[in-house]
Amino acid sequence: MRGVFLHAPGDIRVEHRPDPTIVEPTDAIIRLSATCVCGSDLWPYRGIETVDGPAPMGHEYVGIVEAVGPAVTTIKPGQFVIGSFFASDNTCEICRAGYQTSCLHRELIGAIGTQAELARIPLADGTLVATPDVPPDDLIPSFLAASDVLGTGWFGAVAAEVGPGKTVAVVGDGAVGLLGVMAAKRLGAERIIVMSRHAPRQKLALEFGATDIIEERGDEGAARIKDLTNGLGAHSVIEAVGTRESMMQAVHATRPGGHIGYVGVTHGELPGDQLFFSHTHLHGGPAPVRRFLPELIDLIWNGEIDPGKVFDLTLPLDEAAEGYRAMDERRAIKTLLRP
Ligand SMILES: [Zn+2]
Repeated sequence: MRGVFLHAPGDIRVEHRPDPTIVEPTDAIIRLSATCVCGSDLWPYRGIETVDGPAPMGHEYVGIVEAVGPAVTTIKPGQFVIGSFFASDNTCEICRAGYQTSCLHRELIGAIGTQAELARIPLADGTLVATPDVPPDDLIPSFLAASDVLGTGWFGAVAAEVGPGKTVAVVGDGAVGLLGVMAAKRLGAERIIVMSRHAPRQKLALEFGATDIIEERGDEGAARIKDLTNGLGAHSVIEAVGTRESMMQAVHATRPGGHIGYVGVTHGELPGDQLFFSHTHLHGGPAPVRRFLPELIDLIWNGEIDPGKVFDLTLPLDEAAEGYRAMDERRAIKTLLRP
């Protein structure tokens, strides 16, 4: 089969690799209907995270089950399934508490690489959720979004305790931030302030439910949010970038007693004294997307949300390198790859 590899920063290649096989009795093999490039794939692509190349790439996936191991009982060949970027058993105490990305038996899908024609998914019964039937083609982008960016934006909003009557600020206008807007709207936020300087992203944010757009960044951006909230700051802030600057922008935009849901991996150290005196609740980490999948699948299947709109570039898998370039240069919000 063909799969995407990162050889060195900026060096993406599509190469032949062996077809995956059932290794553990709890595995499934899926044939990818679609896969995509994640904002987090850009960290190694840009050389900000070290690359031990050639590394298989990709951790977002939807597809048709081709085969299952002998211990798999609920997932069956022929089903259309969605899973998240960590495989999880969904039965351990941590999973049952809703933190499947910290499952005691978790396995990183990124190490397997789903930017490919086929993928081996460990712990299939716990990891994969099947749709009611094989979906029509036009729903596939939305289900693919549920595999990571929608679930991650949703967790950001839930972690930030978004709810009716609240003012929410979103730091980051990538796919996760934009879908954090969608989540905030669904969760009943009264006002949703998005920080963005890019016209196409502003437009999508407004379509997803944003009420205000702020173009300023850093301390200036935080000050603008205070201006809009009687000098107090937002009740809930979703941080969806993962830099020291974006994290501190979120902290400074949150009112004392407010909540921050942070879903970008923070790169760089945070000043403890500023966190201490901010009087904010911080809750984040690798989003337990699996917790939200059944609900998100229902919403998409019933046509209530259309998160697939974040894909503004679709390419064949063979053109993955261009898909990475377009996202790196911010010409695309998110690239969908068709195997
Ligand atoms: Zn578990």
